[in-house]
Amino acid sequence: MEDLRDPKLVSKAVEKIKALAGKDKFKFCHVCGTHEYTITRYGLRSLLPENIEVIAGPGCPVCITPARDIEEAIYLAEQGVVVCSFGDVIRVPGGNSSLAEAKAKGAEVRVVYGPIDALRMAAENPSKDIVFFATGFETTSPTTAATVVSNPPENFSLLVSHRLIPPAMELMVGVGEHRLDGFIAPGHVSTIIGTEPYEILPRAYQMPTVIAGFEPIDVLMGIVMLLKQIREKDYRVDNVYSRSVRKEGNPKARALLDKVYRVVSGEWRGIGRIPFSALELNENFRRYDAREKYEIEIGDIMDLDPQCSCHLVIIGRLYPKDCKLFGKACTPSRPRGPCMVSIEGTCYIAYRYGG
Ligand code: SF4
Repeated sequence: MEDLRDPKLVSKAVEKIKALAGKDKFKFCHVCGTHEYTITRYGLRSLLPENIEVIAGPGCPVCITPARDIEEAIYLAEQGVVVCSFGDVIRVPGGNSSLAEAKAKGAEVRVVYGPIDALRMAAENPSKDIVFFATGFETTSPTTAATVVSNPPENFSLLVSHRLIPPAMELMVGVGEHRLDGFIAPGHVSTIIGTEPYEILPRAYQMPTVIAGFEPIDVLMGIVMLLKQIREKDYRVDNVYSRSVRKEGNPKARALLDKVYRVVSGEWRGIGRIPFSALELNENFRRYDAREKYEIEIGDIMDLDPQCSCHLVIIGRLYPKDCKLFGKACTPSRPRGPCMVSIEGTCYIAYRYGG
């Protein structure tokens, strides 16, 4: 890791980027909150020449979790169910409230490190109904799947809100004003799914794609490889994170995903419905589906605060500082939109490190 952080390597990569880019303009998109963290935390945008722009796509799982799903979790908590969730999800504003507010009013909302903790809680408290609010991308969905194949107790169920990254990347190709020149694909999602799900991007859209890790040099090498593909007019999926990502991904995790879920169209907060971008429990595991078990009923709800610009930040059309609430009415301690809550949220990262 020390080698990877050698400043000489960073300088070399930046020089290579400048040489390959020349005077042409390029706009690249990453789809990962951790990439945004690396880029902003280490000031990589300030190292890049002005003709290279890197925007953040919908890569923060907390930000794109639909307000409706959050309201469903709140509904369950208000009915006396113990709702277990990842820590940053509980502070995200839903349509009317948040899990944190429900907890403050007396509902049992527990922060857990993962679904296995919720499973353990169910086994230790047979008289209580325990629901794990399962959010996140392909990095977290295998662990959620592992709970239901382990024959969990009857008082355990899942409120599944998992989403898939490759369909969101395809959507970004169609956000016309961007006219993207390439994708930096997320390293940890790729560790699970491998390289094949991205093949459609160069094949169908001539969109250069590079899987990158999370050190500054990883991101810069991703940009170098994107520019090389463009200069060579040879569009493909390159992998500069081979210390973690294999072509086939993680076969055990992929088998678990196939066994437990089916792929359906799903809502993304601030974006709307993306075809074949969500997971739900298949027929064999439907008995653990909290939506069916508790017949959740939610009326119409607002996806976002009307003042909030998260719908534009999430697709990279607006930088956080261009939202009029940024740093004033919206801060990490008093978030108005989902992008200001999670450590993977673009607004949160810009607030903490963007200066
Ligand atoms: S600053 Fe707050 S309100 Fe504005 S886009 Fe970001 S999260 Fe949404």
